[in-house]
Amino acid sequence: MIEERSAGAILYRNTPHGRTYLLLNYPSGHWDFVKGNIEKGESFKETVLREVREETGITDVNFVNGFENKVEYHYQRDGKLVHKEVVFFLAETPTEEVRISHEHQGFVWLRFDDALQKLTYKTAQNLMKKVRESGFQT
Ligand code: ATP
Repeated sequence: MIEERSAGAILYRNTPHGRTYLLLNYPSGHWDFVKGNIEKGESFKETVLREVREETGITDVNFVNGFENKVEYHYQRDGKLVHKEVVFFLAETPTEEVRISHEHQGFVWLRFDDALQKLTYKTAQNLMKKVRESGFQT
């Protein structure tokens, strides 16, 4: 089986109307957090900083200490089964403006419950619930 490793961020902004969370629309149609493949020699957090920059143009990212959770899934690529693991961190940015790359079709900043509904996959929804369960004020 092919093994794939990515790292990503549940990226949020503090707004006067509460926290909002960033979701991206992937080319295959699903909505998920910012993430991307880990390149050789990179730490998970280095991958996240690079992917956030490349996929959104956002450069000021502050990790929230203590939140690190893994999501796992399988998918088919060219008829072959891929096992994928994605390590996610929780992170804050003061930047609202997003410039998505050609790798995505759209983005949205949503309040916690709306983001939870918008996420396509159960694994991503369960990850987001862990943010609340960890005691973090959403
Ligand atoms: P990356 O952002 O890590 O570079 P990618 O854009 O290459 O990833 P994924 O978002 O992992 O790819 O999507 C690859 C395939 O896996 C797609 O067919 C997608 O629908 C499916 N997929 C993505 N996330 C999940 C998930 N949480 N559970 C199940 N299937 C998923």
